[in-house]
Parts: sequence; C-alpha cells; structure tokens
Amino acid sequence: MIIGIDDTDSNEGMCTTYLGALLLEELQAFGTVETPPILVRLNPTIPYKTRGNAAVALKLRTDCPEKVMGHVINRIRELARLECEKTNPGAVFIPEEACERLKPVLLAFMEEAVRDVIEIERAKALISELGIPAKGLKNGRGLIGALAACGAMLNLEKWDHTFEYLAYRQQENWGTPRFVDKESLFEADRETYPETWDTVDLANGLVVCVPHSADPVLFGIRGKSPKTVTRAASMVRAEPAARFAVYRTNQGTDMHLLPAANLAEIRDMHSYRAEGTVSAAPKTIQGGHVIFSLRDRKGNEIDCAAFEPTKNFRALVRKLMPGDRIALSGSVMSRTLNIEKIEIKALAPLYTEENPKCPECGKHMKSAGQGQGFRCKKCGTAAPSKVRCETERSLVPGFYEVPPCARRHLAKPLVREGCQDCKVHPAR
Ligand code: ATP
Repeated sequence: MIIGIDDTDSNEGMCTTYLGALLLEELQAFGTVETPPILVRLNPTIPYKTRGNAAVALKLRTDCPEKVMGHVINRIRELARLECEKTNPGAVFIPEEACERLKPVLLAFMEEAVRDVIEIERAKALISELGIPAKGLKNGRGLIGALAACGAMLNLEKWDHTFEYLAYRQQENWGTPRFVDKESLFEADRETYPETWDTVDLANGLVVCVPHSADPVLFGIRGKSPKTVTRAASMVRAEPAARFAVYRTNQGTDMHLLPAANLAEIRDMHSYRAEGTVSAAPKTIQGGHVIFSLRDRKGNEIDCAAFEPTKNFRALVRKLMPGDRIALSGSVMSRTLNIEKIEIKALAPLYTEENPKCPECGKHMKSAGQGQGFRCKKCGTAAPSKVRCETERSLVPGFYEVPPCARRHLAKPLVREGCQDCKVHPAR
C-alpha cells in the first residue's frame, strides 16, 4: 500500500515531513515499511502553502490495510493544526493491487501539481473516478499534495531525485530556540561538499539548514545519496534529536520549470526557463531589489527580479547591460520572473570614449585646449576628437545562481551540474 499525506502544518507548528517520520516508525506495527519515504515539493507559487509546499508518501507491505488507514487518519486528527484556516489535511491510500493501474495517471497528476495549479474539485473527482480510498479533513485541499506524493512513489524511475536527512526536535523543545553548533555545520559542509549542498552559505556567512520557525525540524542536510547526507548529519553537534528520516525527494531537480518558447506565453503562478535579450538596464529599487527587462525575438517583454534576499547575486545582475543575451529560470508572480539561475550566453560590447593614440609613438595624445582637439607633444601629431573603444566587461559568460540562503527547494543547484566546466559558477 502507498500512503500519501499533506497539509497538516501551520505557521505555529507541525510539518508534514514530521508526521511522515513518525508514521515510518509507528506503521512497523502493521507490516514492513519500505525506505526511503518520499518528500515531493509541489508548485512553489501556490498561495495556500505554509512554507515549502511539501507532501509525503510512504510505502508499506501490510495485510491489515483497514487498520493502517484508521491509524494514519487518527494521527492526522491528533497532530494536524486543524485550528488554522490554511490547514486542510488530506490522506490517500493506494492499495497494492491498484498500483500498476494508477501509475501513469498519478505520474501526470504529480507533474501537474509541481508545474501547474490544480482545483480541489479535480483532485476529489479523480479520487472518486479511480476509486481511491482517501480522507480529506476540512476542505480537503491536502488531497492534491497527497495524490501527487503517491504519483511520485509509484514512478520512482521517472523523475530526477536527491536526498534530505531531516532531524526532528524532542517535543518539549518545540517553539524554543534551537541549539545547533554553527561551526559543526561549517565542518560538515567542508567535509562533504559537493556531495551535500546548502548546509551553509559561505559567501554570506549564514547557516541555511536550520529553520527558524516553530516547526519540529531541527536541521536538514541535502545531498546526492542517503550515505552522504547521513555522514554529514553525523558531524553535526546539536541538541538531542527525537527522530530522523532520510527522504528521497525532487528537491534540487528543476522539476518545476517549463520551457518558455516565447515570453508572451508566461503566466503567473508558473515557473520557467526563458531566453531573451536584456532590454532595459538593471535598476535597484526601494528595498534593495534589482529589476531589469528581458525581451524575446518577437518583442515580448517581462520584468525580471533579483530580490533583496538573493544578497550577493544582485551584484552580478547589476552588471547586465541592454543587449546581453541570457537565459533565466525562476517563478513568475505579478508578471515578474523571480530569478533562480541565469545563463549569460553572450555579452553586448561595452564602449568607452578615449583620447586618441599617436600613430607614431602609440601613446595617448593630450588635449590641445578647449575645442582644439588632441596632440602628441613628442611627435607633433594631432587628432580632432576622442575615439570610441571597446572595453572589457566585468562579467564572463556562464551559468550563475542565487546563493544557498535564497535557494528555492526545487531549484537544481549548479553544483549538481558538475564543476569541471569553467562556465559553471556554483554559489556556495
Ligand atoms: P506542510 O508541511 O503541511 O505540507 P507546506 O508548506 O508544504 O506545509 P501545505 O500546508 O501543505 O504547505 O499547503 C499547500 C496546499 O496546497 C496543500 O493543501 C496542497 O495540497 C496544495 N497544493 C499543492 N500543490 C498544489 C497545486 N499545484 N495546485 C493547487 N494546490 C496545490
């Protein structure tokens, strides 16, 4: 049986991945739980999300499915933050005999949930049409994420993946400041990068893997394999953890990106890879956000932004000039593309005006007085005006990204592209 769950938390606490980790232990009493469990990140622009739009799926061999369903629903009732308006849990149960039949339809549903916007009614209609046992609490919006997580579990071979080791706090500590030794996180990063990433942000001197909210997560280590994330986690000195889980996840895969053939087709609440030419120079607006315009071949334009939280990435964006050819990836809200990554494909030439050079000695001439052109004192040569010269840009073509502290869960870090190519500049 595959169990999908979603939408159990609120800003005041809980986390669906915590419930997943708890059920991973408790469901052993009803059969054999297969590992790793699945953590899917869905459309990052969905307004209903509490934080990272995550949903979870577990796989269990059991001969008492009714009891399992009862237990999972009871635990959701006990632990979900039902008092919060935005918490609308959903649980979906795919019986073993239905798995083959539901594989393709739930793969399509998962891909849609990552890239598009789905109405609750559609999820409910699909559940009843396919005869899937499910339980929605309150408006049941979590059924969308729960179905998508089952789609991910059923189709492991169909999507790129990474892993995350999530350590959870003891319940009596929830809501209090976390103790995680900062230096040990920097050490773990030094020892395991590039097999792990986004534990810390070296350029900005920040810890990235420890949340600040009231949820039960102590820290999360992201990386290539269960072995490397577990090794990095073993180096972390912190308050005692209550439990942990290593999830297989679509984090760091760019699964949310749609190719945009032209900028006219770009819609809010979707994420794209889009190409074009910088058409208006970057401007820094109030709040420190940097905005410029991108134009495609047909003349369609869109605003692109490196917001203040992207920190040092903004310095790179400010160096762009009209005429630069680039490709961007990011999510679109209010007709503005929030940049996650940039490929600088070709730079526009930069011209400056210089005093002319003497054709005899090659040195720059000096001004001969106002309105009298330029003269070389040594050779006696003269020229009427300044000359236009191409100057080197302080930017090199290649791939760049926002720093770890501003990374979207789904964005594929450049370190995963391999660093042997000098055109790839992973932020660390
Ligand atoms: P949690 O830890 O509870 O999962 P979260 O930050 O992941 O917190 P949720 O509280 O799950 O966010 O809220 C997201 C809600 O949006 C869920 O009900 C989920 O089913 C729904 N949802 C996810 N993806 C989509 C989508 N593509 N279209 C519409 N609704 C979606």
